[in-house]
Amino acid sequence: AVRALVLTQNDDKSVRADLRGDLTVSDLPEGNVLVRVEASSLNYKDGMAVAGRPGIVRKFPMVPGIDLAGTVLESQDERYRPGDAVLLTGWGVGEGHWGGFASHARVQGDWLTHRPEGMDAKKAMAIGTAGFTAMLAVMALEEYGLTPDSGDVVVTGAAGGVGSVAVALLAAAGWRVVASTGRAEEEEYLKSLGAAELIGRDVLSGLKRPLEKERFAAGIDSVGSTTLAGLLACLKRGGAAAACGLAGGSDLPTTVLPFILRGATLLGIDSVMCPPERRERAWERLNRELPAVLLSSGVSEYPLSEVQELAPRILAGQVRGRTVIVP
Ligand code: NAP
Repeated sequence: AVRALVLTQNDDKSVRADLRGDLTVSDLPEGNVLVRVEASSLNYKDGMAVAGRPGIVRKFPMVPGIDLAGTVLESQDERYRPGDAVLLTGWGVGEGHWGGFASHARVQGDWLTHRPEGMDAKKAMAIGTAGFTAMLAVMALEEYGLTPDSGDVVVTGAAGGVGSVAVALLAAAGWRVVASTGRAEEEEYLKSLGAAELIGRDVLSGLKRPLEKERFAAGIDSVGSTTLAGLLACLKRGGAAAACGLAGGSDLPTTVLPFILRGATLLGIDSVMCPPERRERAWERLNRELPAVLLSSGVSEYPLSEVQELAPRILAGQVRGRTVIVP
């Protein structure tokens, strides 16, 4: 039998979620690889899908869960054999194709990544889309040419999933990390990940001028809106910010002045359609570089039956670090 959280849409367009235990593998959508899911994870996007927010789920019924990790059971793709340890993030899984909040998933081999040596399913999902995105953002800043010698880096939404992993990766790479958070009570946690300094969530979002005092060489932003606008206004000459998210809003009320007067750069991060070769590189680096402290203090584990209660909490910014879901 297949267990899965199934979303359906009511006549009034509201969404209901049911934990079903009566499905079989023949109910799974088409795909050339069948995976036994050993772990999934809860991302902001999953919170939106389960809470019925518009714009994520593209058809019903849908099994949400944009991430999964497990073992191949059957494969018609020559790159994958039964028993292979795999992970999957993005590609529209959990949005347009049944995803990871289930005991099994049938997917396209093109969407899978071999798990790096020694990375079990729970570790892969402790990282998940959020951690993978944080690594893509770190890579983008590096490829742009920034290093710890360039100056401080600021991470916004620091106590969230993307933010926590970004803080840990940057600190481990030698950056002086300033963590921007709305949760002062997470100071000890963020410092344990390597943050040198905390600033309140309102500091960046409250800045009003198109250019502020130059303060940061780089930034990784998961909040968007006035927070990213404030970050751009205080980038140092030649600095760059990686835009990852919209937890504070999808608008960007800024001006061109940081770009044309300080040569600032805005780097866009898309984890969903990231090409396979770059994915593998990011996952290899996560396996080597992610400090153990993130996995010991920044990860909680919950059963599939609790996803419905967790969804509103991640949307309200109340979930710390990363959340692994066990089917
Ligand atoms: P998350 O764990 O909920 O983290 C978001 C953090 O943002 C929260 O923990 C909170 O941090 C802060 N925050 C929440 N609401 C806020 C508000 N109204 N104003 C200002 N700050 C707020 O979510 P996540 O999974 O890390 O994802 C973060 C964002 O990145 C989401 O928008 C998600 O959709 C996006 N994302 C994008 C990609 C991509 O491919 N580009 C991939 C993954 C995620 P503090 O409490 O520390 O302030």
